[in-house]
Formats: sequence, C-alpha cells, structure tokens
Amino acid sequence: MGEEDALFVASRVSDIPTPYVPSFKVPCSECGEDVWISEDMEKYWSEMRIVCTVCALKSASERRGPHTIKIVPENIKGIIKYLLSR
Ligand SMILES: [Zn+2]
Repeated sequence: MGEEDALFVASRVSDIPTPYVPSFKVPCSECGEDVWISEDMEKYWSEMRIVCTVCALKSASERRGPHTIKIVPENIKGIIKYLLSR
C-alpha cells in the first residue's frame, strides 16, 4: 500500500434510519458501527475500505503529510448532510 487510502464513506445507520436508496448494512472497518451501502455503488466499495462518516472525518483531520483520501463524488452529499445535521 502506498500513501493513498481509498475510503468509501457511508452513512451510519444510527444517523439515517431509512436510506435514500435500497441499501444493506455492513460494519464500518474502523469502528464497527453499521453503515448503509447500496448495490449500485458496488464498483466503489468492493475495492475501497468502507468507513462511516465519523471515521472518515477523523482520519481526514488527523493524518498529516503526503496522504490522499479518495472519496467518491456520490458520498459528498451524504457528508454534507451529516455535517449540517450536527
Ligand atoms: Zn466508523
């Protein structure tokens, strides 16, 4: 693994009781919270590490140096929604 960390950011089940699209639950790879992932995004999450919004924000703010976190565009909506709801 290089300096790049491909993260698939998913909404926590505890934040969004009903997902916007048909989804299923998987645990966050960092904290183990259940998150929603959908089948139509499989091309992303099958190759990326699945993390919840909380862990994604944490790793983005804590890590320093040459480091890239890849986030799929479709995730941005969910993250903004999450930040606004806090
Ligand atoms: Zn997490």
